[in-house]
Amino acid sequence: MDNKNIPTEEELKNKLDKEQYRVLREKGTEAPFSGKYLNEKRSGTYTCVVCDNPLFPSTAKFDSSISGLAGWPSFDQALPGAIKFQKDLSYNMERTEVLCAKCNSHLGHVFDDESAKTGKHYCLNSICLNLKEEK
Ligand SMILES: [Zn+2]
Repeated sequence: MDNKNIPTEEELKNKLDKEQYRVLREKGTEAPFSGKYLNEKRSGTYTCVVCDNPLFPSTAKFDSSISGLAGWPSFDQALPGAIKFQKDLSYNMERTEVLCAKCNSHLGHVFDDESAKTGKHYCLNSICLNLKEEK
């Protein structure tokens, strides 16, 4: 793997604010309805805030109809190869964690959702993402 653009853990501690570090590197979750991209409608590509890896197209973003997931930005599809998955057994639940494929930062979780176009519902933390806007 090409690591030259991936900051070290020490550099990340300086680069990210405390809350970002907690979510991205310690697998935390931002408070529901607090994220800046929850109701974002602009077009573009959502990239990883740590390494700029393009992750999700704005066309995959949708409004959650599952109330338990409605507090975070929802997507039904990631860009090819952008993310990877890991089983997460914390909090006595079996969930699938979503990680940036390039820098291993925690982004959120993916759930099965029949109301989503692809049947998949990516529930992500806004503070893990950057929207690169397209005009
Ligand atoms: Zn990344």
